[in-house]
Formats: sequence, structure tokens, C-alpha cells
Amino acid sequence: MIASYATLLERTLGSGLDPRAASFLEQISGSAQRAYALLDSMLQYAALSYREIALSEVDLNDVLQQVTANLQLRIGERGAHIEADPLPVVHANAELMVQVFQNLLSNAIKFTPPDRKPHIRIRCSEQGEVFRIEVADNGIGIPQDQLERIFEAFERGHAGRDYEGTGLGLAITRRILERLGGTIGVQSEAGKGSTFVLTLPKHS
Ligand code: ADP
Repeated sequence: MIASYATLLERTLGSGLDPRAASFLEQISGSAQRAYALLDSMLQYAALSYREIALSEVDLNDVLQQVTANLQLRIGERGAHIEADPLPVVHANAELMVQVFQNLLSNAIKFTPPDRKPHIRIRCSEQGEVFRIEVADNGIGIPQDQLERIFEAFERGHAGRDYEGTGLGLAITRRILERLGGTIGVQSEAGKGSTFVLTLPKHS
């Protein structure tokens, strides 16, 4: 509502609006949109603890294709290169798996310095009863003392102040994987990149 009224006010006043007032209105719309995105993520994070999750056979190659289509604009703008092993079919939820990969890939692009082209490698292997999937980037990396903390809600890590976000993406990602019987962790060499390691059960 706040964003809509700010837009209406902008339209009603039209070209008569002085530049300072126009910039205030722009700030109101931007803040309202960020507040909306934050609330939406918080609701989703909360719902993930009790919501029933419908499971089916999910082809992760299709998931990845969907995610690259969703992120097409950002991939194009940054000249990102994504390289992936053939991925398995898992017993999961397609919508949630799209969200997992979309969070990881959009972070990989976002946390790569602007003067470097993002290069994302997705590797998959079988390890006993689980599939192990690695998502590696050539971004800014994560200091050792933050490797666990970044999965907590609202923890934005050392990079938080320079990049926009809510600090909920990885908390949501971990909660999804836990609900699906999987895990997620990260390894990193600061300055050189990060590798997020996911496991998903072969059968559940
Ligand atoms: P947000 O991206 O909104 O800050 P996330 O929960 O997705 O929230 O990530 C939390 C923090 O983890 C980020 O603020 C950043 O410091 C760190 N992070 C996440 N992904 C990466 C990555 N691929 N490379 C470097 N740092 C990352």
C-alpha cells in the first residue's frame, strides 16, 4: 500500500514534482519494496518449520534450467558462466529445490566482485546413501569464523554492508534441506571463492 500510494502521488503530481520531492518518493517506494521482500522471506522461513511438504521425483537438471531462466537477466548482465555435471533425480519438492539453487546461484553472482566474471561450477557425486552436490564460485569468499554463522537468520557476514539482501536466503536454504532430510555447509578460501556443499538422501 505504501509503495502504491507513493507511485500514485508521483503520477498525480506528474512533471510538476520538484526533483527533491521526486527523490523522496523514490526512497519511500524502495523502502516499502524492501520491507515487503523482508516480510515475505520471514513468513516463508517461519512456514518452513510447520508446513506440510509435498514430495515427488524431481529432476535437478530441470531445476537448474528453471533457475538459469529465472536469473537470465543477472547472468547476462554479469557475463556469468555456469558449468554443471549431470544431476540426479531426487525425492524432493521441485519448487523448494528451485529456491535452494536460486539462492545459491544468485549469491554466487552477487558476491563476485564487479570486475570479475562469475564462474560457477556445480559438481555431483554419490556418497553412500546420499548425493553430494557442490556449488563453487570464484567470488569474494567467506572468512573462516563466519562459515557457520551465515546460515543463521539475519546474519549477513562480512560482506553484508556492501551488498543488498535480507540475510535470510541461506537460513531458508538450510531449513529446506533439513526438511528434505539433507544438509548444507560451506568451505571457503577468502578472496578466492566459496564452495557450498549439499547432501540429499538418495531415497526417503
Ligand atoms: P543475503 O545474501 O541476503 O545477505 P544470505 O543468507 O543469502 O543473505 O547470505 C548471508 C551472508 O553469507 C551474506 O551476506 C554473505 O556475507 C555470505 N555469503 C552468502 N553466499 C556467499 C557467496 N557465494 N560468497 C561469499 N559470501 C557469501
